[in-house]
Amino acid sequence: MSDETTIMIGLETHVQLNSNTKIFCGCPNPVVYQTKNKELKPNTLVCPTCLGLPGSKPRTNKKVVELATKASLAVNCKIADRTFFSRKTYFYPDMSKNFQTTQYEIPLAEKGIVELNIDGKKKTIRIRRIHMEEDPAKLIHEKDFTLVDYNRSGIPLIEIVTEPDLKTPKEARLYLQKLAMILEYLKVYDSTTEAALKTDANISINGGERVEIKNITGTKEIERALSYEFIRQKNAVKRGVKITQETRQWVPTTGITKALRKKETEADYGYIFEPDLTVIEVEKKTKEKIKKELPELPDEKEKRFIKQYKLTQKMAESLVAEKDIADLFEIAAKKAATANAASWCGIVLKKTLNYNNLTFAQSELKKDWIIELIISYEKKEYSDVVAEKILRKMVDDKKDSNEIAKKYKFQKLGDLKDISAIVKKVISSNKKATDDYKKGEEKSLNFLVGQVMRETKGAVDANTARKKILEILR
Ligand SMILES: [Zn+2]
Repeated sequence: MSDETTIMIGLETHVQLNSNTKIFCGCPNPVVYQTKNKELKPNTLVCPTCLGLPGSKPRTNKKVVELATKASLAVNCKIADRTFFSRKTYFYPDMSKNFQTTQYEIPLAEKGIVELNIDGKKKTIRIRRIHMEEDPAKLIHEKDFTLVDYNRSGIPLIEIVTEPDLKTPKEARLYLQKLAMILEYLKVYDSTTEAALKTDANISINGGERVEIKNITGTKEIERALSYEFIRQKNAVKRGVKITQETRQWVPTTGITKALRKKETEADYGYIFEPDLTVIEVEKKTKEKIKKELPELPDEKEKRFIKQYKLTQKMAESLVAEKDIADLFEIAAKKAATANAASWCGIVLKKTLNYNNLTFAQSELKKDWIIELIISYEKKEYSDVVAEKILRKMVDDKKDSNEIAKKYKFQKLGDLKDISAIVKKVISSNKKATDDYKKGEEKSLNFLVGQVMRETKGAVDANTARKKILEILR
């Protein structure tokens, strides 16, 4: 990125909370309902309140306030003693009441921080505010008409707003990943669903007007969207075009942002106090109780892993990045050598999951399966090559290592009746390489090692093969 261009990015992230019921009524929360019941028909989880019918009486779901408080405390925010909901007035088919119930004047929480590790350097991102609000209905745009699904209407959201402390698209991604990680540790949202986390990004360059990019889903698209927008603005400035304040939309399929509307200011929404809901008071002892019950968060876990297991900072960071994998590592470290547990959980497993674009939870792998494989590897039942191949098939087939080994005929080292016979055969059928090695050419030994591995389809690892060859040639 060019030195003379300065860039300022602030993010507003909407997170769907996983309370059992919606924020202002007793309807089941589709976020939770859908994980238990596969098929959810449109407009079935609705009532007069979340449909926004006149005369309906909303009530604040206490559990939502609790989850929002939990998330706020985990990012070191100060919780307001008294707060309330307001009406954000706008006209759009996704909000039949013509206003969204949200918080404006006094948010639930303010002044938090999230710590990032950027290429080994610590950076603090300030959180300006966190407030609660309702999700609007979902619009489904068909060719000639638009459908409305009110199931989504009333799903509890928190909006987490940063100060413009992020300086590059990469920093924005690292922040969002860290935030998602913290929320996953807290179990306040469904981390397996990309749409549970949506971000609006404000970006300006060289102190110019800021442009808002709406609705960037998940954590993977943010860097792409901001990189595109940064280059678009830079090129516009170069051509002498003035950047004006506007709202744009990220189109992931084409990888561009497109203009939506000239940005309205918050005053245009005409916020007014919501008279149907009571003032929210989070008591001091409730705050203290929630704070005390916070789980070990990623930063603390990372520090503990380094100290307790003598891991490198990089390895600890890799392990804690996904709570399931951190948990898996701790179980594995009790049953196998720490070094094997760490490299299998923090490197091999993560590489395989990344390749398949899956998290551990999404992969449907069982923790016991991985531990069994690590133990087999440690007992030298499988070479590293074969063990890795088995893991890949485990992800594909969702079966344990024994079933995979049987199905794909992967050989255990112990199953190879006579390694010496195989090595002797390789030596006798590669006379030239053998002679060259005897004359002092190290490269030829590597060739013979490769041949033994090929002959055994990787069941014999390089070290064992080398040892056996030297033994026989001696
Ligand atoms: Zn309802």
